[in-house]
Amino acid sequence: MYQLGRDSSQPKENTVDAAADVLADEVQQVVTVKKLAVVVVVAAAMIPVAVLSHELGHLSGYFAFGFPSPVLHYGSSSFEGESEFWGALRDGDTAAANARVDVRAAGLCAAFGLLVSYITIGLGLLAFRRFGDMSALCLAVAAAARFPLILVLALLGRAEHTDEAHVAQALGLPFLALVMLAVAALCLATIGSYRILPAANRGKLLAAILVGAAIGTITWLGLVGPLVLP
Ligand SMILES: [Zn+2]
Repeated sequence: MYQLGRDSSQPKENTVDAAADVLADEVQQVVTVKKLAVVVVVAAAMIPVAVLSHELGHLSGYFAFGFPSPVLHYGSSSFEGESEFWGALRDGDTAAANARVDVRAAGLCAAFGLLVSYITIGLGLLAFRRFGDMSALCLAVAAAARFPLILVLALLGRAEHTDEAHVAQALGLPFLALVMLAVAALCLATIGSYRILPAANRGKLLAAILVGAAIGTITWLGLVGPLVLP
């Protein structure tokens, strides 16, 4: 785990003064180009972790509900007849959809992936606040990396194949509320990260995390993912 901490070779004392020293070190800490480069690499490496844990959320539901032939891909997860199922549901043919898999179960499976992302964001932020673990903060931002795309698709009116739309279609929840939840998660991951990073370096560090997340997304979805998990 990559720690954004003070130099561990310094003597530690169990005094209030020592705690004050730690805070002062955090504020005055010089973030070198090398450290920023490490943050970029860690943030990039967290993208496949975030993507695959989200997809495993869906996949665990498929297995739990006995869906036919669940498969994990590099950027998605599927079951047999999935596109026909969602197509029938969008056409309002609930009977045809239910003939393939249970509609409510499919809605829950879509929600499981979202839940994993939301929980990852929350726990990652908490872990950084508690332990100063930069990889946890990178993972939180990586888990939020899907939300800008969701927002763009929603604004273009082309979000019908997203998890948010699937939850709305299968469970009858309002799509707009689910998009607002995505906005909230994105704000929490970015603004929340900015606020809890050391004040003197938060701009540079957050920029490094975002650059890393962008590189990781392009690299995983465009190059590495299809090679290792078609
Ligand atoms: Zn998903």
